Amino acid sequence: EPSDRSEEQVSGAKVIAQALKTQGVEYMFGVVGIPVIEIAVAAQELGIRYIGMRNEQAACYAASAIGYLTGRPGVCLVVSGPGLIHALGGMANANMNCWPLLVIGGSSERNQETMGAFQEFPQVEACRLYSKFSARPSSVEAIPSVIEKAVRSNIYGRPGACYVDIPADFVNLLVNVNSIKYTECCMSPPVSMAETPAVSMAASVIRNAKQPLLIIGKGAAYAHAEENIRKLVEQCKLPFLPTPMGKGVVPDNHPNCVGAARSRALQFADVIVLFGARLNWILHFGLPPRYRPDVKFIQVDICAEELGNNVRPAVTLLGDINAVTKQLLEEFDKIPWQYPPESKWWKTLREKMKSNEAASEELASTKSLPMNYYTVFYHVQEQLPRDCFIVSEGANTMDIGRTVLQNYLPRHRLDAGTFGTMGIGLGFAIAAAILAKDRSPGQRVICVEGDSAFGFSGMEVETICRYNLPIIILVVNNNGIYQGFDKDSWKEMLKSQDATIASPPVCLLPNSHYEQVITAFGGKGYFVQTPEELQESLRQTLADTTKPSLINIMIEPQATRKAQDFHWLTRSNM
Ligand code: ADP
Ligand code: MG
Repeated sequence: EPSDRSEEQVSGAKVIAQALKTQGVEYMFGVVGIPVIEIAVAAQELGIRYIGMRNEQAACYAASAIGYLTGRPGVCLVVSGPGLIHALGGMANANMNCWPLLVIGGSSERNQETMGAFQEFPQVEACRLYSKFSARPSSVEAIPSVIEKAVRSNIYGRPGACYVDIPADFVNLLVNVNSIKYTECCMSPPVSMAETPAVSMAASVIRNAKQPLLIIGKGAAYAHAEENIRKLVEQCKLPFLPTPMGKGVVPDNHPNCVGAARSRALQFADVIVLFGARLNWILHFGLPPRYRPDVKFIQVDICAEELGNNVRPAVTLLGDINAVTKQLLEEFDKIPWQYPPESKWWKTLREKMKSNEAASEELASTKSLPMNYYTVFYHVQEQLPRDCFIVSEGANTMDIGRTVLQNYLPRHRLDAGTFGTMGIGLGFAIAAAILAKDRSPGQRVICVEGDSAFGFSGMEVETICRYNLPIIILVVNNNGIYQGFDKDSWKEMLKSQDATIASPPVCLLPNSHYEQVITAFGGKGYFVQTPEELQESLRQTLADTTKPSLINIMIEPQATRKAQDFHWLTRSNM
């Protein structure tokens, strides 16, 4: 310790790390290089967990999942220029999902700006489209207050991504310790409540509904509103439908869950309460023919600008979902009411659920090989631990998987989300596995990937093995994008032609041994073609909590979803 404290110096890197620590940041993902290595080292020295990934995009996905799962931003640390640009995909995905994420990018030295510096790029401007807040501190002394503002912007109001730019020359710049004032940790987001008359009006609209429906979105999951929403469902005996990541806020096997009659429920409900779910493509914009033209929407959202998008709502409840749900519960405590369980609406929904479930089960019981999606997911569902995280991406893999694989806990499903992003899977799985390791050891992460989706961030398998995260990756392999071809048809199709000329754009190499990607790094790989092999490999991987594994599951290359009343994705039949 120098006797004269005014001479004690500290580097920009250490100031950044201390500022993050002060704001409660616990996890940092990234790919280091010049000029950010020192920042990662300084963060690690302060006890912030640093996870080195193989591509900035995946690092950014991982950091954003931490934000969604914990309510505090994870940091994604990247180098200048290309590093930052690779991270933009992750920022966009987080911002679209309304998830907190703090990206910290090194940038070129200030005194070389506009001169064609190494990896020079207008990073603050580039990040603006992908974030709520994007800024460069004007000095090392300004770093703590800018980081505080970024973290506060991450979690206040509608959550989202933020960017802080760090010029290379700040990183090793030494400044006097006494010149740095660390801004106190920002306060928890203030909780807003809806106007009282709007709450009474909402309650009265619900009371008068003939065919009510609650839609539970990932906003409700983020808001930790599970207890109050469940109370509302049970007290008023209302049917509910989770959105993909709203699954588990109230368990999928709850008797009031009408997930298996999704289209029917949307199409005929006369009053719909939206808890943190936007009327975007996922909910078919709230418009006919997927909804009644006279359906009354009650929107609950923290973001005023969201209210009234695409439809004219009957009632808007601006506020925090958990607080607003409590307000609604108080209304129903004052004048108790419940929706009659013997209504025609419940009967319609139950019948539709039964017939949809029967159709899936029939497909699942098909004995022919290669297997179809339903067969695969029924066997997976049979063995899944109830408390596991389910991460999923792909086209059919994700859509069909969602209908069969059950979530029993909130914030335990992570998928392609609002932006429909492919490549999120391994990053999300890594984040979930790190949290599981820290907070509930033994809890498993199952990452259900299409073969195409797996390819986007496939090298993160090395990250998984390096940190020895016992993630189970399932690659549901149909040799292609949407659909593929079996080996013989592919060969026949190409005949004497070169693949670069004749291979159909949707094709991937038939019978690829993706399981060898994980064995290369010491994980366990399985190649399975039959239900028995699938069951056995699942048994083994679930029993072994010490090792990452990948099960490559060959399915019928032309397998599809069962017939739909409406197609989930396409806009053509809107
Ligand atoms: P989904 O994909 O499940 O339909 P969306 O991402 O479309 O969900 O919608 C989530 C909504 O939740 C966003 O409009 C967001 O503003 C809102 N939201 C996020 N956190 C809260 C909160 N604490 N209280 C109220 N609304 C919230
Ligand atoms: Mg595929």
